Amino acid sequence: MSGETSEALSVACNEMDTLFRGVADLSISSDPPRVESHHHLTTSLEEEDFTLRDLLELPIEICERRPTCLRCCRPEKVCLCPFLPGCPLDVSTSLYIVQHPAEESRVLRTVPLLAACLPPEKCKVFVGRRFSEERNPELAAVCQDRRTLLLYPGPEAQNLQDLNEDLMGDEQNIIIIDGTWSQAKDMFLRNSLFHLPKQVQLNSTPSSQYVIRTQPTNMCLSTLECAAIALSIMEKDPVIQEVLLKPLRALCSFQLEHGAQVHHSKEHLLKTGLYDKPLPKNKRKMKRIQKLITNQKI
Ligand SMILES: [Zn+2]
Repeated sequence: MSGETSEALSVACNEMDTLFRGVADLSISSDPPRVESHHHLTTSLEEEDFTLRDLLELPIEICERRPTCLRCCRPEKVCLCPFLPGCPLDVSTSLYIVQHPAEESRVLRTVPLLAACLPPEKCKVFVGRRFSEERNPELAAVCQDRRTLLLYPGPEAQNLQDLNEDLMGDEQNIIIIDGTWSQAKDMFLRNSLFHLPKQVQLNSTPSSQYVIRTQPTNMCLSTLECAAIALSIMEKDPVIQEVLLKPLRALCSFQLEHGAQVHHSKEHLLKTGLYDKPLPKNKRKMKRIQKLITNQKI
């Protein structure tokens, strides 16, 4: 750690210390006066420590006290409602998002934007890591439904675009896992319920438009992008994709105007010759990078 960083950190720690002492003082002052004992001091310090730990673990978003728009869940000043459709899209497919708990507390979330574009009964979100028939009867019933598809890439997955017409009936369900690549993988592997529906993937996908969060390869799309493409295919209506991606584009251009950096995937940077870090000398690492350039499959 550099001297400057550690100094800044120690200043921040001192400030926090003062803050928490203030909080502790307040809570003590509301109690009736009592005799100070060594024991009391110890528990009070322990409690203070516990509070500090707890506070540090809270998601950053909690600190924001800005008024939030109820429709798009964005702070009111940067509300994206003008980019949402006037009324919810009329779709026959129902979307089920299974969301990793860490995703729910991110500041930049795309699922609320998606939900705001669709009728509430056509877009349901289930938050958790593990799902079972006992605890999640509704989701379990969807997984057991023959009309349900699970969007998750892999060797077993069929391209959604190539699905047989008779598998693409009316009122189908599609399940999408919302989380980072490794969270989604863990959720897919450890939930046997997710092995019941037919597994599908999106084959020819454009490079992610969601440029604020770095995507490991161009195939990694945000949940909103996946849902937009999948719904367009299932409903055979390319307009759906346009309507759903509009708020995402607005979100990205707003973030970029306010200093966020464009995060292209490593794959994109390598292909366009913009990758500015020295290439590894290690042969195995070099091979992995070569594979990233030539092979689109994850
Ligand atoms: Zn709004």
